[in-house]
Amino acid sequence: MSETAKSLNFIEQIIEEDLEKGYSKDELRFRFPPEPNGYLHIGHASSICLNFGLGLRYNAPVNLRFDDTNPAKEEQEFVDAIKRDVEWLGYRWDTERYASDYFQQLYDWAILLIKNGKAYVDSQSSEEMAKQKGTPTESGTESPFRNRSIDENLALFEGMKNGDFEEGTHVLRAKIDMASSNMLMRDPIMYRILHRPHHRTNTDWCIYPMYDWTHGESDYIEQVSHSLCTLEFLPHRELYNWFLDQVYDSQKIRPKQREFARRNLSHTVVSKRKLAQLVEQNIVKGWDDPRMPTISGLRRRGYTPEAIRNFADTIGIAKRENLIDVSLLEFNIREHLNRVAPRVMGVLDPLKLVITNYLEGREEWLEAENNPGDESAGFREVPFSKELYIEKADFKEQANKKFFRLKLGHEVRLKNGYIIKAESCTKDNDGNIIEVQCTYDPKSKSGSGTEESLRKVKGTLHWVSIAHALEAEIRLYDRLFTDENPDGHKDKDFMEFVNPNSLEVITGYVEPSLKDAKTEDRFQFQRIGYFCVDKDSNPKKLVFNKTVGLRDSWAKIQQKD
Ligand code: ATP
Ligand code: MG
Repeated sequence: MSETAKSLNFIEQIIEEDLEKGYSKDELRFRFPPEPNGYLHIGHASSICLNFGLGLRYNAPVNLRFDDTNPAKEEQEFVDAIKRDVEWLGYRWDTERYASDYFQQLYDWAILLIKNGKAYVDSQSSEEMAKQKGTPTESGTESPFRNRSIDENLALFEGMKNGDFEEGTHVLRAKIDMASSNMLMRDPIMYRILHRPHHRTNTDWCIYPMYDWTHGESDYIEQVSHSLCTLEFLPHRELYNWFLDQVYDSQKIRPKQREFARRNLSHTVVSKRKLAQLVEQNIVKGWDDPRMPTISGLRRRGYTPEAIRNFADTIGIAKRENLIDVSLLEFNIREHLNRVAPRVMGVLDPLKLVITNYLEGREEWLEAENNPGDESAGFREVPFSKELYIEKADFKEQANKKFFRLKLGHEVRLKNGYIIKAESCTKDNDGNIIEVQCTYDPKSKSGSGTEESLRKVKGTLHWVSIAHALEAEIRLYDRLFTDENPDGHKDKDFMEFVNPNSLEVITGYVEPSLKDAKTEDRFQFQRIGYFCVDKDSNPKKLVFNKTVGLRDSWAKIQQKD
């Protein structure tokens, strides 16, 4: 096997084999087929990266096809959100398609099937039909309507289409084999009556095609060569092929369904239906709540398309389902933001610090590097003055040698600024420290080139000047679910594991350079983590979401293994 062949995933191997067997490269075509019944989630990102990734690898078109055959659940809002998210991830589809574009063609083909004796109208209730389905080991029972004449079937089916019947009175079924060992082949339903307006076809139709009948034929209409779906559709493959057989013209590309494992992420759920429940029950504030595993939620949280694509690439595709630890996703965003996010200073839990030997009313603008790893990121200026905020956790009256922060009688450097020494502190009546008094070494300014500026002290603290700092609302997030696999319990509903403390809102203080930060701008708050400007932010009140902390817990997990 050549070096490149080794690195191919199993789907790429299938395609390579097809190319060797005579497919030409320009016959390759893929599609990403979401149902517009919710927002895309991180599981979909895997499917998007797979399909669009194949498009890029083989220079083949990839359609965005909305699988919109269920008017009860589908909405334009979801169509718009899906398009926005796919584009944001960095992919361009060839054409935008809708299964509903094919309603007429599918109807015409259904008539062809009836004429060929391959479909019939069943007028039993769904309960009766369910009873006749049999079990995997026991044959089903044929419907009493199975042998209706072609003319009667045609007339009834037309009546269904024309709205002559109530919902649930008739269905169109494929006439396959009630004894098949594959339950899906036991005369599956092709159409049901639904008197509901559709988000695109409005009231043109009151019969709607089922997924199995629609999907393969849509692939065929679009001449998709490889139709990739998740593993639960493996047993559907036989039916997919049977439906294709009914209409297939050998001059054309015959689509091939192949399956890969669904991706699941720990501490969350990846199912639109379940995510919809979180939205409807106000557990979160909408589909783009930063705690949601949706693409929109991750974007609002501060994730970058690069990080999500790298994540999808790293986990690759698999033949078996497993649970991916969310810390791997966090590793990817931390890694990308470390390279690109500008550094700023913000204090989230403020303690007042007064520099007693600094002139009252004096202010200095200190030069600060925007990104130590990237010279081209340049510099900004941060204001320094007599009264600052530092983090409460960065000061102790006394502490052991391992405490490389500020303690009485000891020195630290203020980032981009001076070396200070803690002299005393003030407490309130309950004994809480409310102010620290320090002295500073005027010759120790960072970057000034003096001997004192080069003096090494253990510990560097971030800070903001109280007079200049901007107050900001900071939203801190924890896992949305307390359980690693909320969906994986037979006896318990996933909703039982919702973490009641997944959001904490605090007031912090940030340096004034952030005044003009815009929605979705991302920053590293030095020594704390990565933060992103929320859409609720406005010039009067900055709002930040914490994307992820600086600590690399994933690397630790890996080291343990
Ligand atoms: P959901 O249960 O979230 O609605 P779905 O499979 O019904 O998922 P679709 O909109 O039908 O959602 O999915 C569009 C495509 O994305 C399909 O090809 C589907 O197989 C794939 N997909 C959905 N969820 C995942 C996942 N968790 N991992 C990988 N691919 C997925
Ligand atoms: Mg679905």
